[in-house]
Amino acid sequence: MIEIKENISLAPFTSFRIGGDAKFYAEVFSVEELKEALEFAKDKKIDFYILGGGTNLLVSDDGFDGLIIKIKMNEISIDGEMIEVQSGVPLIKIVNTTSGQGLSGLEKLAGIPGTVGGAVRGNAGAFSVEIKSCIKTVTAYDTEKMELVSFENEQCNFAYRTSIFKENKNLIVISTTLALQKGDIAEVQKIVTETIMTRSARGLNGTKSAGSYFMNPVVENEKLCQEFEKEKGVPVRNKTLPAGWVIEQAGLLGKQIGGAQVSEKHANYIINAGEATASDVIMLVSFVKQQVRDQFGIQLTEEVNYLGF
Ligand SMILES: Cc1cc2nc3c(=O)[nH]c(=O)nc-3n(C[C@H](O)[C@H](O)[C@H](O)COP(=O)(O)OP(=O)(O)OC[C@H]3O[C@@H](n4cnc5c(N)ncnc54)[C@H](O)[C@@H]3O)c2cc1C
Repeated sequence: MIEIKENISLAPFTSFRIGGDAKFYAEVFSVEELKEALEFAKDKKIDFYILGGGTNLLVSDDGFDGLIIKIKMNEISIDGEMIEVQSGVPLIKIVNTTSGQGLSGLEKLAGIPGTVGGAVRGNAGAFSVEIKSCIKTVTAYDTEKMELVSFENEQCNFAYRTSIFKENKNLIVISTTLALQKGDIAEVQKIVTETIMTRSARGLNGTKSAGSYFMNPVVENEKLCQEFEKEKGVPVRNKTLPAGWVIEQAGLLGKQIGGAQVSEKHANYIINAGEATASDVIMLVSFVKQQVRDQFGIQLTEEVNYLGF
């Protein structure tokens, strides 16, 4: 039997440390408990929202007038190079577990916070590797059919920071089977360590944020693409520019509204520099989008998810 708590502050459950209260809050450790939570929301005729690690989420200052279902399903089973992992497992845990056994594939995802469920839904990636390249199947609970459904990789519609699970709110990621390759333990662990060190060197660890706020935009502005190539000495790929570089060109590094700030270290990080409210973040985000649109004709879209707006 699950415990349903009332009026729970959501800020501590997010990496932004921002947001009001959830009317109801439950943690689920199994599919049975998930069904129980969904039943509760249905009986009360309220909305539900799935919470993983809260590392890609901005919760409104008014909170959420429904049921937060925090996914805590946390089993891992390893069969040779196949790893079945439940959605509540922290991504870093599965990276460490597999690399510790010399299994290769996830090394470049080391240091991405949050859960496996959040990573699958958003096709998390870093350093040109996305989790989709290691996924064989995904099992989801379909809240409309009220049954478990299995998806092969090709059926998951994985693309840049999206998937079928993001497109459909009725699909809750339960587990995934990862297909990794046997590698050399020392070599695999070295890449994990180097990846984490590269991330640490950005100086953003410990800041209150939700990671990259915007998706990297596809840009028609040729002059801007040429400027990027000249400055960075690398070609623009697929007409896509790093959102952070574009925001920097708009002169917004360090721009602050209330407690929300465009990080001085990485312009695509909006940080909670003190006591930021969700309203501060929204005002700053609107300002950034407007400036980038006015100056370069680029429409930025959010990678971060919104709850309660
Ligand atoms: C410092 C920092 C660095 C980051 N670096 C990266 C990076 O390099 N690459 C990258 O891709 N991301 C990065 N992120 C963003 C974030 O870590 C990823 O998006 C992560 O995969 C989100 O997982 P989560 O469990 O925290 O999801 P949450 O924030 O809890 O949820 C995000 C969305 O997914 C939904 N969701 C969560 N779990 C499930 C589930 N089981 N089934 C269905 N829907 C679900 C939620 O409803 C919500 O809409 C970073 C974030 C931070 C704070």
